[in-house]
Order: sequence, then C-alpha cells, then structure tokens
Amino acid sequence: MSKRTEIATLGEFGLIRHLTEKIELKNESTVKGIGDDAAVLDYKEKQILVTTDLLLEGVHFDLMYVPLKHLGYKSAVVNFSDIYAMNGKPKQITVSIGISKRFSVEDLEEFYSGLQLACDIYGVDIVGGDTSSSLTGMCISITCIGEGEKGKVVTRSGAKDTDLVCVSGDLGAAYMGLQLLEREKSVFKGEKDFTPDFSGKEYLLERQLKPEARKDIIEILEKAGIVPTSMMDISDGLSSELLHISKESNVGCCIYEERIPIDYQTAAMAEQFSMNLVTAALNGGEDYELLFTVPLTDHDKVSEMKGVKVIGHITKPELGNYLVGRDGGEVELKAQGWNSLSE
Ligand SMILES: [Mg+2]
Repeated sequence: MSKRTEIATLGEFGLIRHLTEKIELKNESTVKGIGDDAAVLDYKEKQILVTTDLLLEGVHFDLMYVPLKHLGYKSAVVNFSDIYAMNGKPKQITVSIGISKRFSVEDLEEFYSGLQLACDIYGVDIVGGDTSSSLTGMCISITCIGEGEKGKVVTRSGAKDTDLVCVSGDLGAAYMGLQLLEREKSVFKGEKDFTPDFSGKEYLLERQLKPEARKDIIEILEKAGIVPTSMMDISDGLSSELLHISKESNVGCCIYEERIPIDYQTAAMAEQFSMNLVTAALNGGEDYELLFTVPLTDHDKVSEMKGVKVIGHITKPELGNYLVGRDGGEVELKAQGWNSLSE
C-alpha cells in the first residue's frame, strides 16, 4: 500500500503551502506569485491574453484510467494551447481545485507534479490558486495568462477569400485513444485478472492522456515571418472549429479529405472499431493541434513547413463550408463536435 496522508492533517493553508513551496518563478512578467492576497504581473508593452477552463470529474475526465499526474499535465497544457492559438505565449496560471475526502495529500502531490512538469516544459509560472472540499468528485479550474505582441495577436475573425487553410500535426488520434481506454475499461469491469492491451497503440494513448500544445508551430511561424490571418486550436474537432472561423470571419471554406493528416495508428484503430476514419478526424476532439489560415502568397512557405499541412482554402461566404471527398463528391461540414460522437 502506498502512503496515504489525509488532507485534514495539513489543513487548507498547510496543503497549499505544501504543494506550492517549491515553486520557482521563471518569467520577468511575474512580479509576485503565490503568497499574498493577489499575484502581481507586469506586461509592459505587451497585450495580455486570458483564458480559463473548467474540468469536472465524470464529465471531462475519468480517474479510472487517467493518472492524476497526467491529469495535472493535461489541465495545464489545454490552457497553454488556447494562448498559442491566439499567437501568444503562456506565462502564468492560477489553479483552483475542488476535492472530496477520497483524495489524499499524495494524490494532490501527483496532480501538482504533472502541473509543474507542464509549466517547466512550457516556461509558465504557477502564481495562485485555491483549494476547497467538494462533496462529489474532483473539479479543476485553471486560468492562464499569456502575452501577445500588439498587432500580432490572431483571432478567429481574420480569414479572407482565397486564404489557405492549414493544420498542424495529425487529427483523430486523441479521440481514438479515448475509444480505446473506454473499451478496455468496459472489458475490465467483467474480469478479475485483467491486463489492458495497448501494444502498438501507444501514440493514441499519449495523444489522449498527455497531449502537447503546439508551441513549436507558433515559433516556426514566427521565424518564417508569418502571422496567420485567423487561428484557433482544435479542441472540439476540425469541423466545428472550421465553422467557427467561417462564421467569425464571414467566409466559406473548402477542405480536401485526402489532405487531412491522419496517423497510421489512428487509421488502424478506426478500422478495428469499424468506425469511419474521416468522421473521427473531422469530429474527434482533444487533438490540440492548430488550425489557421494564411494568405495565398505564403503558400510556398507553409508547404515546406514541417508538421504543417495545407488542407484547403477559404471561399466566399455564399459558397458554404465543404469537404471534398476522395471521389470528388462534396459533403457539407457540420458541427458535430466530439461530445455528440460518444453519445
Ligand atoms: Mg480554443
């Protein structure tokens, strides 16, 4: 049995101190972190980006198969992803957690070690937070603050007719990872000696349990001197995010099925589950890849970029939003979203 220390032995303030005492601040913009009534930040000439995310046990995560360290990592990274999606850089987070008696001090240490790891990798400071007891499951609320250069912050509303539609990485793997975990969980319920079979599917699990935010793509774009005309991260599925860009930019779009980047493991899993691969890539969520548009004049630059794929182009609004299939047929894009897929 691993050690279990009841949270009550530390008390609320003792717990926060215990979890945060080793935090070292890395960013110049963090003037004062944890330890006063409020954190103090100084962003000088920069624009400040703020995003927040609420995660509820049983709704957004299942502790049956999500280790607390991974949960901490992912909770932080999904927020960083939203700041990168504005062409910004995440700098600080505040972390608030609701926990029931079911959790021990060691559980929270695990969660915090994941948070801290993500913050170390992405250069972010934890500057505040709160903990409170919850009567039911665990809930996590993270707010992330980041910086953007004036004139270079990218919203969803700047896409123009003839712009190229680009995505980073590959799509559908996180959704397939979730399907795999759910399947193993349902098999596990019926067996005593159960070892889940994940061999050859490690990438799918990693994409679901330990996603990364595309800091690297933001840096590559910056180096190439490209400021996308619109951008967002793919958390709810490519289809739904594309429709957000179309609506906010008052344009239409046309993407090509054969150009949607899909990993081999995703394709193999879809086949095994008899699922439509394109549906999974279009509507499967939690990929945290970047979807962005650039002017046609940047074609050569983005075509050469590692980890970036041009999947289509922006059209006039009256042309609507379409996917051109491998057979040349057109299908209207619908905002299915990943949640509705699993119901
Ligand atoms: Mg987003």
